[in-house]
Amino acid sequence: MAIGVKVLRRPETDVSYVRATLKGMALTFRHMFRPKWTMQYPEEKSTTDWSLSPRWRGTHRMLTDQQGRSKCVACGLCPQICPANCIKLVPGEDEDGNRYPLIYEIDEFRCVFCGYCQEVCPEEAIHVGVHYENAEYGRDRFVYDLERLSSQTHPVSSLWDPSDPKGE
Ligand code: SF4
Ligand code: SF4
Repeated sequence: MAIGVKVLRRPETDVSYVRATLKGMALTFRHMFRPKWTMQYPEEKSTTDWSLSPRWRGTHRMLTDQQGRSKCVACGLCPQICPANCIKLVPGEDEDGNRYPLIYEIDEFRCVFCGYCQEVCPEEAIHVGVHYENAEYGRDRFVYDLERLSSQTHPVSSLWDPSDPKGE
């Protein structure tokens, strides 16, 4: 792709900055009559003009089946692919040979919200979520265990779709 370069010549004589100052003030003045876009957060979290993208990647959520059990089958793919190494999985197996997570934790503080865990999960169990209000007072509170991940109720991310790059 060609890159356009615009060459600006320095003025060779003394110039007055009055014109530039007036232009700047005119721009400021025009903005006084334009609609304001300030949102009164946290009372206001979305408007008809602005809301979080469904592709937003935030706080994780573990989906559950109809019996309320985690859909995770402890295959080990998500901790394997996680670039931040922030997923801890200890797999278990029941008497019928079904695998399930004995321990499943995500450190949201170390996570870089790449969404790989969601993409790789064969059971569509773990998801990044359309959610960002996860501030805590202590670092240990950012480690979400299976119960906490499963109790999240926010929408899950639709991620970026290569066949629909603009999300239309
Ligand atoms: S979003 Fe990325 S960094 Fe975060 S837990 Fe998933 S794979 Fe790891
Ligand atoms: S990829 Fe999915 S099924 Fe496999 S361990 Fe991770 S959450 Fe569980």
